Amino acid sequence: MEMTEDTLYGRVCSKMVEAGLITKEQLAAAEEHSAKTGKRLKDIIPGIALITSEDMGRFLEEKLDVPRVDLESYSPEPEAIRALSGDVARENGILPLFEIEGILTVVLADALDVFELDALSRQVGWSLEPALSADGNVQETIEACYSDSEGGAEQPSAEEAAEGDEEEAVPLNDELEPLPDLEDLPNVEVVTDGMNGIELDKLAVADDETVKGLIGQIVNEAASRGATSIHIEPRRDLFHLFFRIDGELSEVASAAAALQTRLVSRLMRMARLEGSADQGVRNGGLSLIVDERERAVSISVCATSTGPRVVIGLESLVREPIELARLGFVPEDLTKLQLMLDLPTGFILIAGPLASGKTTTLFSCLASLASSGKSVFAVTERMECAHEAINQIVVGSDPSYRFSSILRSLARQDCDVLGVDEIRDLEVAGLAAKAAKSDMLTLATTLARDATAAPSGLIWMGLEPVSLAQVLSGVIAQVPVRLICEDCKVEDKSEVALKAMEALGGPMPYTGAGCAKCDGTGYKGSAMLYELLVAGDKLRTAVSLDKPEGEIRELAKESGMTSMRLAGLRRVAEGLTSVAEVRRVTRLGGA
Ligand SMILES: [Zn+2]
Repeated sequence: MEMTEDTLYGRVCSKMVEAGLITKEQLAAAEEHSAKTGKRLKDIIPGIALITSEDMGRFLEEKLDVPRVDLESYSPEPEAIRALSGDVARENGILPLFEIEGILTVVLADALDVFELDALSRQVGWSLEPALSADGNVQETIEACYSDSEGGAEQPSAEEAAEGDEEEAVPLNDELEPLPDLEDLPNVEVVTDGMNGIELDKLAVADDETVKGLIGQIVNEAASRGATSIHIEPRRDLFHLFFRIDGELSEVASAAAALQTRLVSRLMRMARLEGSADQGVRNGGLSLIVDERERAVSISVCATSTGPRVVIGLESLVREPIELARLGFVPEDLTKLQLMLDLPTGFILIAGPLASGKTTTLFSCLASLASSGKSVFAVTERMECAHEAINQIVVGSDPSYRFSSILRSLARQDCDVLGVDEIRDLEVAGLAAKAAKSDMLTLATTLARDATAAPSGLIWMGLEPVSLAQVLSGVIAQVPVRLICEDCKVEDKSEVALKAMEALGGPMPYTGAGCAKCDGTGYKGSAMLYELLVAGDKLRTAVSLDKPEGEIRELAKESGMTSMRLAGLRRVAEGLTSVAEVRRVTRLGGA
């Protein structure tokens, strides 16, 4: 274990040393003892450094800005609960709270567990971020959340059950309200003339117009730097502005926490989001015209114990489809995909985590089909992509009704190919499968970590395994991976990296050391990792019997699927990305 700043363990330890809570020598002794005896650091460090869990909690809160969450008023997201098994949660005393783009925030029952989080992250395949509880009832809440979810996948979460909610099923992503039609989005014009650099301090004296200008400037700056989302995050005394670029968050600016309210309330008013930013989650969108350029953005405001956390999504910018051959598939997978697309019918799922470019892949496929003389329709939640030969229908604010009525009418439109972006609930899943059955080649995006998780995700929503298996022709799964910065590329001699490359005959792995050109991250630019599952008879039978994911994965590998992990390691062998990056974005043990 190294005390580098880029691991949570490294961050905690260097701050502890800085604060005089432990010396470097004590830490080294603790690590050595742990390596020798297999004892956990959380059991060794308090003995050596005389720290209690309470001290550690205070330290984490004050020095590392680890937030405290009031579990009485904040209920964990059902999706987060599903991300970890009840056994893992109980055994490690962690309560999953929410997942944002591959990072799972967990509340620690014992603050000293922070030492184990990195190891646990690797074990569960999620990047875990710590949070603390404001009132210490974590174990109870873990019990409550998991006893419910283990009672049956369709059970509502603990909080919802407690409220006596009549609704039986909580569909996957139900909490992600779809965006309204682009035309229905509030339009706001912003002029940012004469503004240089993002100065959040301006909020202290700003009038309404200046705040609006600042928002426009933040969005413009993020878009021009190629960011996919903007995060406004309250911490203890400051609030921070992050851009997600190439899949990673990087801090852009920060200002006094008190100033955040002006920014958030202005943003909420612009997006016509009602209610208070201090309660629950609010989602909406905004068509922002910044210096005469239109940008459609999604806005999500989530109340946390330190204040409202805002994510502005820039993914919804309208763009031209990319040629299929330029997406980054290896030639053999491209051929397989082309064969699937050439079939007159079938159901192809395009899976990936949030902001993984699923829609781009969908439209590349649709554009290729449209240019081969087929009548192509796309049903989407917002205007996604501009292509003259794709008939794009944007669903309105009542998506279940509009989706279903549109899909029904398509049969009369003599539609050959249907694209759906994205399957969020059972009704849309059912209609898409039905469209596929009625001789339309159907492609649909869905949120899933990898190719084998996608079919079970739909079955979890309530889709009959048999009706999925009848039509399923394949799954494309994708995840973005950062590329090593060419200016600070070095050989990666770490044991983990060398060991990972053994499977490929041991080529030298590389990594980025971090330099000024890459803001010290070691990475610059990104590429997509894919895995392509072609559903043969055996696999379809397994899906129809709702077999566990592991079994489906085995069958997929037998049928020649190259896992994203292996595809990633091949990129490592080419010197394009690092082992650590591949481990970060792919499921462990998936090779
Ligand atoms: Zn660099």
